[in-house]
Amino acid sequence: MKRSVEGIVLRGTDYGETHRVVTLLTAEFGKIGAMARGANRPQSRLRALVRPPVRARFLLSYTGRGMGILSQGELIDGYRAIREDLWKYAYSGYALELVDRFTEEAVPSSGLFHFVAHWLEQLAAGKDPEVLTVLLELRVCHWAGVRPVLDRCAGCGEALSESPVFDIAGGGPLCRRCARERPGVAIGSGVPSLLRLLQEVPVDRIGDIRVRPETKRQMSDLLAAYLEHHTGVRLRGREYIRKLEQYGRPT
Ligand SMILES: [Zn+2]
Repeated sequence: MKRSVEGIVLRGTDYGETHRVVTLLTAEFGKIGAMARGANRPQSRLRALVRPPVRARFLLSYTGRGMGILSQGELIDGYRAIREDLWKYAYSGYALELVDRFTEEAVPSSGLFHFVAHWLEQLAAGKDPEVLTVLLELRVCHWAGVRPVLDRCAGCGEALSESPVFDIAGGGPLCRRCARERPGVAIGSGVPSLLRLLQEVPVDRIGDIRVRPETKRQMSDLLAAYLEHHTGVRLRGREYIRKLEQYGRPT
């Protein structure tokens, strides 16, 4: 059986010297694996299609119940603007790792596929990688079933418009009274409402939301700690970004 399917490469792993196993995100079949035979050979036409980020139409052949064999492909987007920028490339790697870790295999979702496609397009188009990443991390919290509640106090449940402290274990911001009694991470008072905005806004409407560098850093550290606490998953891509930051951010 042969199947032509459009997919975004989430991950590629060498298999022996010349083959590569790829994980594809597709709208019709969800997340699937495929074996790209000979894709690491210098003259292979598959070579450019098996290293993320890539969006392409793939021809997969199936014999029996095993993984599909990726025999041909046609590039739709190689995200050149991302590949040519070390920072964008690092953020795309982290994003695709997040999507890979927090999605189930073989659950078709056109919404998820288009979300990831739009996310990569926005990154390539020059939208703020940190803001895009916070938006993605908030979606991941939702997929993982640990969506933070941002409009109420995680201590007493009172409605909140602003908050000085975020209780990671408790799953949300604290009011001033609860903040005196429970430990939490200090945040700028507007952070919960900004996170709430990013929780809801469609990725292609992110426009030019401007966020101060220290606010971005707070949101990003907070969500990393939050995701790790509630899911127990450590993400290599984030550690790589932190390492890059030691050499300074681009201006
Ligand atoms: Zn409270």
